[in-house]
Amino acid sequence: MTEYWQKFFRDTWGISGRIAALPGELDLNFLAPDDGLVLKVMRPGCDRALVELQAALHAHLSRSGNCPVPEVVAAKDGRELLETADETGAARLVWAIKRLDGTTVANIRPRLESVAADLGRVTAHMAEDLAGFDHPALDRPLKWDLRRADWIRDEIGLINDGARRAQITGLLDAFTARHLPLLERLPAQAIHNDLNDHNLLARVDLNGAALTGVIDFGDAIRAPVLCDLAIAGAYAALDTDRPLAQVTALVRGFCSVRPLREEEADALWPLVLMRLGVSVVNAAREKRLKPDDPYVTVSERPAWRLLDWARDQDATAITATLRHAAGLDPAPCMARAARALDSALICPMLETDLAGARVADLSVTGRDAPGDPETGALDPATFGEAPVLGRWAEPRLIYTAPLFRAGSHPAEGRRTLHMGLDVFLPAGTAVAAPIAGVVRYAGREDAAQGYGGCVILEHEAGGARFAALYGHLAPASIAGLAPGASVDAGTVFARLGTAEENGGWPPHLHLQLGHPDQADAPFAGVYAAGMEETARALHPNPARLLSLDPATVTAPRLDHEAEAARRRRHSTRNLKLSYAKPLPILRGRGTLLYDDRGRTYLDAYNNVPHVGHAHSHVVAAIARQMALVNTNTRYLQPIWADYAEAITALMPEGLDVVFCVNSGSEANDLALRLAAAASGGTEVIVSRAGYHGITRAAIEISEYKFGGPDGTGRPDHVHVAEVPDPLRGALPGNDDPGPRYADDVARVIREAEGLGRRVSAFISEPFPSVAGQVIPPAGYLKAVYDHVRAVGGICIADEVQTGLWRLGQTPWGFAQQGARPDIVVLGKPVANGHPMGVVVTTREIADAFASRMEFFSTFGGSSVSCAAALAVLDVLRDEDLPRQVERVGARMLNGLSALAARYPLLADVRGMGLFLGVDLARPDGSPATEAAAYIVNRLRENRVLIGSDGPHDNVLKIRPPLVFSETDADFLLRRLEAILGETALQPFMDG
Ligand code: PMP
Repeated sequence: MTEYWQKFFRDTWGISGRIAALPGELDLNFLAPDDGLVLKVMRPGCDRALVELQAALHAHLSRSGNCPVPEVVAAKDGRELLETADETGAARLVWAIKRLDGTTVANIRPRLESVAADLGRVTAHMAEDLAGFDHPALDRPLKWDLRRADWIRDEIGLINDGARRAQITGLLDAFTARHLPLLERLPAQAIHNDLNDHNLLARVDLNGAALTGVIDFGDAIRAPVLCDLAIAGAYAALDTDRPLAQVTALVRGFCSVRPLREEEADALWPLVLMRLGVSVVNAAREKRLKPDDPYVTVSERPAWRLLDWARDQDATAITATLRHAAGLDPAPCMARAARALDSALICPMLETDLAGARVADLSVTGRDAPGDPETGALDPATFGEAPVLGRWAEPRLIYTAPLFRAGSHPAEGRRTLHMGLDVFLPAGTAVAAPIAGVVRYAGREDAAQGYGGCVILEHEAGGARFAALYGHLAPASIAGLAPGASVDAGTVFARLGTAEENGGWPPHLHLQLGHPDQADAPFAGVYAAGMEETARALHPNPARLLSLDPATVTAPRLDHEAEAARRRRHSTRNLKLSYAKPLPILRGRGTLLYDDRGRTYLDAYNNVPHVGHAHSHVVAAIARQMALVNTNTRYLQPIWADYAEAITALMPEGLDVVFCVNSGSEANDLALRLAAAASGGTEVIVSRAGYHGITRAAIEISEYKFGGPDGTGRPDHVHVAEVPDPLRGALPGNDDPGPRYADDVARVIREAEGLGRRVSAFISEPFPSVAGQVIPPAGYLKAVYDHVRAVGGICIADEVQTGLWRLGQTPWGFAQQGARPDIVVLGKPVANGHPMGVVVTTREIADAFASRMEFFSTFGGSSVSCAAALAVLDVLRDEDLPRQVERVGARMLNGLSALAARYPLLADVRGMGLFLGVDLARPDGSPATEAAAYIVNRLRENRVLIGSDGPHDNVLKIRPPLVFSETDADFLLRRLEAILGETALQPFMDG
């Protein structure tokens, strides 16, 4: 068949290259890549007027240039539309359009908000461009004309599930009553009418995406532009876990070109659902007619998924969000009500006078929040005392029950923004109506952390209707209330419930304003951080109903811009922040970090909180010692010797003298002094891409710094050996890499000695980290140390990264290499974030140093530092962390290796314990630096923090706190796997 049309198009359009059939339902489409054309052979019997309409739309839109619509290309004889016979003799209409760049949006993973925003803009431009367009074929009847959606009514019975049938019927009823009249009122014009993602093209790369084409005007009709937007919204929201974000982006894009009227914005979400309703009923019907044709039901499953999701959502909140995106007031009635309440006459709601009541701080950093942000349990002692107020718009980590969680792993997030006001008072406290109201809802919610007994009254103030939700009531006290009943101002209508009957909370009233449309069922008291603007608009501060000043019970909000500016004012550019959009981290626990709005992140990056962020044992040890005394090593403090004994007990025999300082840098600086004193030499041998700290001496031995960007070059006394990186190191070869790289150290020693100088020390990270999470080849370090000792040099192991069981099997990297250093340097993990560096060496070396000037560090080895460091050792032992590291590390390594087998971008997976690296390479083997940055950023967007490193910055660096669990590992691997499937990375996967 293709041959037949190949010849036809050569003769008529003069194409020179090969053509290939494109997938399609009824018409034939061929791609002629060399000629840059798409050749269109319409189905037999196709209406000529319809093809002419499409060609006219292409011509019209491509002329104006505002929309990426392909031009029509005329045949050699100048005609745009030809009629010919196909191989069977059937008459076919044939035409051709230019081929546009880009991938079909349906094939792009994930759905991108930037593409949705582009689509919004293009939809608006298209509306403007087509305002003056006309064609007789625009007025044909079509089942996809949203105004004709009612045709599905007789077919709803084809849906098997009763709840789903009821939902579609509900949508259709609302549509015919409210939205169809609107569609009939709105001006109609030519619209595309099928902006689904098979008809859209986009270009995607690591830097983002852009819509590059809109095709297939086969469903174009005359209808309101709102239909185009609703159809685009319906498809943009399919197959994504953030459907609302897609539609929001679409609306933002649209409204950047052309405004939406209030009534259009209000109708948009119901119309989106109506389109999905038509789609699923159509699929049910087509399935019956053509049971074997997969094409008729391509979007059925995702459409149901979205409809099911929508059924559980608060449609009022969705509409408010879309109104906000359209630049409209999200909930004008609530703004009016809030203003009216400022001066309304209010009856006392509670017997207690709240003026002067304590205002609790339950925010992310709040002093009244639970010590463990994952338990949610409020301290009854704090809240038993009445009255206490809980603030409005407060981000809280206390909502830990399944009711609030988005998924099984904590980093999948939970709702955090409290949109009511709390008044903690004893159970049984009477609640009176502050103004007259009508019951809209009275019932109970029995889930853990739910409302318990709950009443929603509809009130009116200054002509504005609004709802108020009264939660955590005693169910028995509201048993007599029924929807429709009036409650007079000042009438007691409920009493506060006990903890047992109010979801488990200390007794309190949750008072929250809401939109009248939300009032028939309990609306959310707590919102996800991403919905903050919507939540604030729908649920203004109800303080006036309690005769309180809203300002005193509003939680403050961290202004990220202002915070960044404040930091800039007092810092320098080289004090860098991670991520283009910096993370305001205010709290941590174990492997979790929390930002100011309570968003949760899995920390697979920070190795300083060695036994987990805010470990309670370490916190208590520090606090207790700080409360006893914190002083220096000039006093006889048993705790110093306790630590010295404990840390040397973990070292090889003979390494038994301890110095305490305040950082890894200081420890390395001191190690160099010790080595110089003991060896009498001057020259220091270092490893390429090594990093040892920020003091002048430490930078001088850090090739990563002096040899890196803006480095000042190699100091005269420093000599660089190649880093033993079997994959990307400078000494490739087929022999055993351990001795090969060790020999390079011998070569460098000879070079140094050739200058007539003596070697003082060799320093390296036994497992080089900034060099790219390198696993050194077997036998390397032992051989190196032999070479160094042969010339009287001292061997220093910088264990700042690997020390204290990061590798799982052994406490030290050098031990894994079977090597024994003369000096061991410890830093980061030693005291779980309390600044502490430690140097451990032999008596002989220490004595050479001790014979000189006094050694004293003001803070080094202070009582609190020792308490913190001892507490870390306790936790490592008590929680059996080395075994956990070994186990979880192996799981990570297996998981990463399994991914590497499927995704060639992952060129090398390596690691021991929780010291893990993934080298990313392009198909030609070169370092894929941009891909690493992309993955690190996408993981952050997916709430996982890792880093990248290595001389080419192409190695994913994973080195979490050692309490990283199996569940954490699986979550990270799941998120990474999803990202590896994203379209932007596919050019790296062709290996
Ligand atoms: N050595 C190594 C191997 C390190 O990774 C670091 C810190 N990244 C240091 C020394 C310096 O430690 P500090 O920042 O505590 O001075």
